[in-house]
Amino acid sequence: MTTSTDHDSATLWRDGRPVYDRGETVCVVGAGPSGLASIKNLREHGFGVDCYERETGVGGGWNWRHDRSPVYGSAHLISSKPFTQYPDFPMPDDWPDFPHHGQVLSYLERYADHFDLRPHIWFGTEVVKVEPADGTRWDVTTRSTGGYGAERTHRYTAVLVANGHNWSPNLPMYEGLDEFKGRVIHSSAYKDPAELRGKRVLVIGGGNTGCDIAVEAAQQAFRCWHSTRRGYWYAPKYVLGRPADQVNDAILRLRLPLWLRQWLLQRTLRLTVGDLRRFGMRRPDHKIFETHPIVNSQLIYQVGEITRFRQYSVELSDGTEVEPDLVVAATGYQPKFEFLAPETLAATADGRPRLHLHAFSRRHPTLAVAGLLESDSGLLPLVHWQTVAFARWLRLREAEPRRAAEFWAGTVAKEADRRWTGAKVQDTPRHWFEVGHVDYLRALQKMIDGLAAGVKA
Ligand SMILES: Cc1cc2nc3c(=O)[nH]c(=O)nc-3n(C[C@H](O)[C@H](O)[C@H](O)COP(=O)(O)OP(=O)(O)OC[C@H]3O[C@@H](n4cnc5c(N)ncnc54)[C@H](O)[C@@H]3O)c2cc1C
Repeated sequence: MTTSTDHDSATLWRDGRPVYDRGETVCVVGAGPSGLASIKNLREHGFGVDCYERETGVGGGWNWRHDRSPVYGSAHLISSKPFTQYPDFPMPDDWPDFPHHGQVLSYLERYADHFDLRPHIWFGTEVVKVEPADGTRWDVTTRSTGGYGAERTHRYTAVLVANGHNWSPNLPMYEGLDEFKGRVIHSSAYKDPAELRGKRVLVIGGGNTGCDIAVEAAQQAFRCWHSTRRGYWYAPKYVLGRPADQVNDAILRLRLPLWLRQWLLQRTLRLTVGDLRRFGMRRPDHKIFETHPIVNSQLIYQVGEITRFRQYSVELSDGTEVEPDLVVAATGYQPKFEFLAPETLAATADGRPRLHLHAFSRRHPTLAVAGLLESDSGLLPLVHWQTVAFARWLRLREAEPRRAAEFWAGTVAKEADRRWTGAKVQDTPRHWFEVGHVDYLRALQKMIDGLAAGVKA
């Protein structure tokens, strides 16, 4: 690690422990896509940055070498290139519309190299505690990943948390699961279709990952069942020869009312995908846009929700009893912030942080979370603008504290929690930080404009 500044500048004390003062440096937690954008945008706004990354490389979840990476061999982007790339760093023209996960990693590595981000990252270093310190500053305690070595605490002017929300498996408890003699894995442990070959496989979960694995099981396994809680809308990757998210974006930009967009897309799906009930799939119990869209052109059959497990079988809500020897639970992930006290993020009883724009702490103006979003499009452009907004906010605080306080009181602290999507999304854990990218980007733009007006005035 080489930085232009000395990492251990001055020593303070907290509960008898030394605390190394990092002055005006900002701490970033994690060097995945969100952390990389955070480092780059904070640096471009003149801040010193110390980023801590528990793994030994950049790329977060897209780095398949990482312990907690959720990607599997065949994973490709489901958002197309222009909606996935950072606005200031395009993906190569000769890449496909939906690049493979290995290309996404290579893209993130190129981004880190192009903007010279690695010198600001402490690899193999895990953040174990982030605590408020004097006034609005933060004490960040780190140690080597795996718990080796001593803990060290540094004091920072601000903290940007970019620890990702796709690494802590959400495994529902089913009646009888303990007595089941087959193998049960979470999708995060699934890497290669060879694991399915010749087996009788039950895939649980109707999200994009569940559908991908169900398709692979249908090709590789001896027998495959796909259990989903409800019927979903399945969008093809291409509509009218264009990536489907690009068509959706064009429609969104026309600012048509939600009912008209729902009607248009439902008709398009009727024409392109047809009525999936012919293949034994259930009719969606909700309107389009009310759950995260499933982008899959291959999935064709499905069974009911799980009622209970028995020793050698699983009972489903439609009355069938199936006998899998491998169950893959593609039941999603739970956001986790073990290094922060829940009250710091004003978290609700079920652990949902309550943040302005799902990013900015209302209670602590120098704390933000980047990337805690589930978007109808790619994540990286949204994270780019979130981190630009945070950097500009910190600059305003420094340059004009009085105006900054007015801005905060009038916007961030005042605005009630909102869902940044026109649709009435399903109230499941997977959907509480669901956003429509057009509405969300407009809201970020408004914040950035407000901050700029504050600086100029
Ligand atoms: C199967 C799958 C398919 C997806 N497809 C798409 C897609 O098509 N388009 C799209 O835009 N998004 C997609 N996503 C979402 C994807 O999660 C994001 O693109 C992106 O990886 C999120 O970036 P992040 O930096 O916020 O989190 P992560 O990628 O999870 O990175 C977080 C980083 O923080 C580090 N970290 C965590 N805790 C600590 C700690 N305490 N101390 C130090 N370091 C820490 C981790 O090691 C990791 O490197 C997909 C996700 C999955 C699971």
